[in-house]
Amino acid sequence: MSQIVKIKGMNKYFGKLHVLKDIDLTVEQGEVVVIIGASGSGKSTLIRCVNGLEEYERGALEVDGFGLAPKGGNQKSLAEIRKEVGMVFQQFNLFPHLTVRKNIMLAPMKVKNTSEVVAKATAERLLERVGIGNQADKFPTQLSGGQQQRVAIARALAMEPKLMLFDEPTSALDPEMIGEVLDVMRELAKEGMTMMVVTHEMGFAREVADRVIYIHEGQIVEEGKPDDVFDNPQNERTQAFLSRVL
Ligand code: ADP
Ligand code: MG
Repeated sequence: MSQIVKIKGMNKYFGKLHVLKDIDLTVEQGEVVVIIGASGSGKSTLIRCVNGLEEYERGALEVDGFGLAPKGGNQKSLAEIRKEVGMVFQQFNLFPHLTVRKNIMLAPMKVKNTSEVVAKATAERLLERVGIGNQADKFPTQLSGGQQQRVAIARALAMEPKLMLFDEPTSALDPEMIGEVLDVMRELAKEGMTMMVVTHEMGFAREVADRVIYIHEGQIVEEGKPDDVFDNPQNERTQAFLSRVL
């Protein structure tokens, strides 16, 4: 199996704040890694480093064989990495002035020179896949939060990513819409997509993750199969966190 993500000794600072501390993490092709931890522990920063949305100070990072050096080093693979990595945020970040269909067509046409005809067909196929094939002509604000997030997932998939990053994709949703987004993510995982997911949905983590990682103050203090981490956490920080959220 090939390793899509290789992180070695990664350290990241915001000014004097040491946010990521000696992170070692590899993700295999087809693997679903769920990252859990308290607010402010560095989960978002970690996955934002993976597609170069944040720079890091020390260590090494490789995504699908493309190296991305620490701050000041060689960043020439950044565009390649961005093409291969899809990201879905808590706030859907759709383009408000574009229809749902155009939101999905934009990146393939701009970044990959996909023709309009092909981009349109892809957008419509992906909207069907996330269960909102009938919403293509609407604008984002005309959709519910759960529908908007499904558009955001379809938009990321349109670039045919090798890796999908999710940063609390259901945290901004009303409770009744969480399930429909998790269903789409569950399907993606089943189809073999490699995923790194930050979430507080512990049921999803237990069911879908191949591996769960617990971060405390910028360090990975526990990792393992979901049943092991949830039923038998070894680290006392993990135990305390899980006793609060489960
Ligand atoms: P999490 O996603 O686990 O809640 P974050 O990765 O967002 O944590 O944040 C980790 C730490 O870094 C927090 O202390 C946060 O306040 C800080 N932080 C995050 N982004 C920035 C930024 N752009 N500038 C300064 N500090 C930041
Ligand atoms: Mg976060």
